[in-house]
Amino acid sequence: MGSFAHKMIALAVLKGIAHMKWTPEAETAIKKIPLLVRKKVRVRLEKKARVEGKKIVSLDDVKTTQARLLSRMGSEIKGFQLKICFGPNGCPNRTNISDQLYQKVETLLKSEDLLSFLKKRVKGDLKFHHEFKITLADCPNACSQPQIKDIGIIGAVLPAVADETCTQCEACLETCQEGAIELDTLGPRIDFSRCLKCGKCALACPTGTLTTDCKGYRIQLGGKLGRHPKIAQELPGLFNEKEVIEIVKACIAVYKKKSTHGQRFAEIFTDTDFEQLKNKINV
Ligand code: SF4
Ligand code: SF4
Ligand code: SF4
Repeated sequence: MGSFAHKMIALAVLKGIAHMKWTPEAETAIKKIPLLVRKKVRVRLEKKARVEGKKIVSLDDVKTTQARLLSRMGSEIKGFQLKICFGPNGCPNRTNISDQLYQKVETLLKSEDLLSFLKKRVKGDLKFHHEFKITLADCPNACSQPQIKDIGIIGAVLPAVADETCTQCEACLETCQEGAIELDTLGPRIDFSRCLKCGKCALACPTGTLTTDCKGYRIQLGGKLGRHPKIAQELPGLFNEKEVIEIVKACIAVYKKKSTHGQRFAEIFTDTDFEQLKNKINV
């Protein structure tokens, strides 16, 4: 969601969703709305219906809200989109509490004044698809789709093997969905080429043999959907909040330098830029 208030609205919508029905025509109509604005329309429709005391969303409601949103699209564009998964609403899978990082990224995005930047670079009307997109996901399940955003930030936990004696209970083998743990009589070994840093093995281990080394964030860069979709590339390593902010700043600098007419970050961020960024942050 774009702000704390929006997150609260979305949560309220989710809580109310069990009581809110949609007519089949309304469901069909909303599925035809472009993905970029569909969620926005759905959230507004359900909020409006609740305010009006309705328990069902009709086709007319969809048309009215869609038309209103499209007519005001220009005034709603702020130059960036910052989203977060539903971790802060109580998801038990959170590996990292990223609320503060979210606020810091939002402050940075506002200070970069991407709206003015886009207004100067884009010929014609600004659209939601021009906006710079960052998303946070609080665990490697990546529900907020970091793979298809300009910058995807994923909460992660680096597991480690401690000196405590392993009892060969195999709880870690059962827990790790990536097959990243090997177990022999000496204890567990972690295959970091497979490990997604979800931290579940450390939680499952009853002896503390598997433990947590550090918490941080994985970062994926340069994903997008659209006519030429691209999956983001992951920077090797795990980054703390300060480093995440520095990386976001560096990416925005590349974007502002190279996006001469409002091209998406994924279109202008080359392999060379990726390598240069890696060197800059020493990974
Ligand atoms: S990304 Fe992880 S923490 Fe966030 S909603 Fe999905 S499962 Fe929960
Ligand atoms: S952190 Fe997650 S992916 Fe990595 S070894 Fe542990 S359970 Fe497997
Ligand atoms: S969960 Fe812990 S104690 Fe059990 S096998 Fe794995 S490392 Fe050993």
